[in-house]
Amino acid sequence: MTEVLDVLVVGAGISGLTLAHALKKASNNSPLNILVAESQDRVGGNITTVATEDFLWEEGPNSFSPTPELLKLAVDVGLKQDFIFADRKLPRYVYWNGQLLPVPMSPQAMFQSSLLSDGGKLRAMVGALGFVPPAMGAHLSHPGGEETVSQFFKRHLGQEVMQRLVEPFVSGVYAGDPEQLSAAAAFAKVARIADTGGGLLAGALISAKNNRKSKLPPDPNIPKTRAGELGSFRGGLQTLPKAIATHLGEAMRLKWYLTNIRPTSNQTYIAEFSTPEGSQQVETRTIALTTPAYVCSELFKNLQPDVASILNDFYYPPVACVVLAYPVSAAKVKVDGFGNLIPRGQGIRTLGTIWSSTLFPGRAPQGWQIFTNFIGGATDPEIVELDSEKIVAQVHQDLCRTLLKEDAAPPKVLAVHLWSRAIPQYNLGHNYKLEQINRGLKSLPGLYLCSNYIGGVALGDCVGRGTEVANEIFQSLSKSIHR
Ligand SMILES: Cc1cc2nc3c(=O)[nH]c(=O)nc-3n(C[C@H](O)[C@H](O)[C@H](O)COP(=O)(O)OP(=O)(O)OC[C@H]3O[C@@H](n4cnc5c(N)ncnc54)[C@H](O)[C@@H]3O)c2cc1C
Repeated sequence: MTEVLDVLVVGAGISGLTLAHALKKASNNSPLNILVAESQDRVGGNITTVATEDFLWEEGPNSFSPTPELLKLAVDVGLKQDFIFADRKLPRYVYWNGQLLPVPMSPQAMFQSSLLSDGGKLRAMVGALGFVPPAMGAHLSHPGGEETVSQFFKRHLGQEVMQRLVEPFVSGVYAGDPEQLSAAAAFAKVARIADTGGGLLAGALISAKNNRKSKLPPDPNIPKTRAGELGSFRGGLQTLPKAIATHLGEAMRLKWYLTNIRPTSNQTYIAEFSTPEGSQQVETRTIALTTPAYVCSELFKNLQPDVASILNDFYYPPVACVVLAYPVSAAKVKVDGFGNLIPRGQGIRTLGTIWSSTLFPGRAPQGWQIFTNFIGGATDPEIVELDSEKIVAQVHQDLCRTLLKEDAAPPKVLAVHLWSRAIPQYNLGHNYKLEQINRGLKSLPGLYLCSNYIGGVALGDCVGRGTEVANEIFQSLSKSIHR
């Protein structure tokens, strides 16, 4: 331990890397002394791209929704030519009553869709127009009570939309349980639109109008994208964290595992690491913990036991990502979309399948296709009891019902990646917990939390929040330097 750092960023997932990059950029004129410490021997955290000679696949996130901040970040680190975007017109499917049915992507398509009955469509339309019963339910009877995702959507759009569209979407984003997820936390934007008044349709129109007003002119340096488009990079998602880490250069430390943090009397912190060179100590003015909540919880035990116990309360259910390759001839349907999701109660255990080599062509050799499947999640945590072979057998059996010919030969198994703690669940009480954590952090100036259990789990959310926290840290350090 020699000099005092300005900022220690712990974790080199997309949150930590974005934060460090934004800080480095903000402090261009008088560079800050930044260190990024990552416990693994690689950067990216959940982002896990794997490539062999013939195949390229993802074992964590598969694509991103192109937010301006994410696109800007990628351009900043030299990836302008590496973007790939899936054709936004490719249909998404829901498996319902033994068939794959396209998800309606517009109000007009909704009326023509065979995914909802006429009664279901009428109920959704009436609700969207604002004829919505008041919120009721067990969770609402106490102060600060809130609705589950299931209660919220049933009230606004009816049971059918909830079961056949929202529930599979919840599986796709959170691998979550709509009976446990908080509408205000997990669907914050939609809940805000509903609060605008007059139902979801009027709310959506008002917020679109407001967004248009507040929109900055487009940046000519970032590619133009359209709603519904999904992006990646030619070499897979891992291209982005690798490029950011290269830009961070000497500030990066791999295989540095943070074991303890303690405050000093000089308004700094000492962080202790286990590293391949033995234990290391670092003194720093600020720390940004971008690690999962359960990791932060351990680190907070000595700092603030109350905050530690709240952090430990965020649930990360297990999910297996099962990447299988089949000959093109094995499919019984036209593999022409993004993929399919499967509502619970259809007799299929797999939550959904991304048709990866259709989404981003060129990732499988001629004559082959890759299906990336997710199984487990908050409604099926028992998945951890199956070994890889049994998980593959289950997914293959499910695929033979949804997509493949009944007698399709067993697949070429590219990966079975069991995430024992996958995606944080924004369950009832989530926002209240975050408020309590923020209150606790007031007595630890210079300590920041920035990870996917705050403000959204999508990669774009992580980039947005990483940028915001970097600005907060920069402002605070600039003030203290001026003082
Ligand atoms: C299976 C799966 C599929 C997903 N699919 C999508 C998708 O298609 N699109 C999308 O937008 N999002 C998706 N997500 C969500 C998205 O990937 C995550 O929300 C995001 O990657 C989280 O990034 P992060 O940096 O906040 O956390 P992480 O990626 O978890 O990074 C935290 C880092 O901290 C490190 N760390 C932990 N403990 C320590 C310690 N003690 N010391 C030092 N370092 C430590 C970890 O090794 C890790 O690198 C998916 C997530 C999963 C798991």
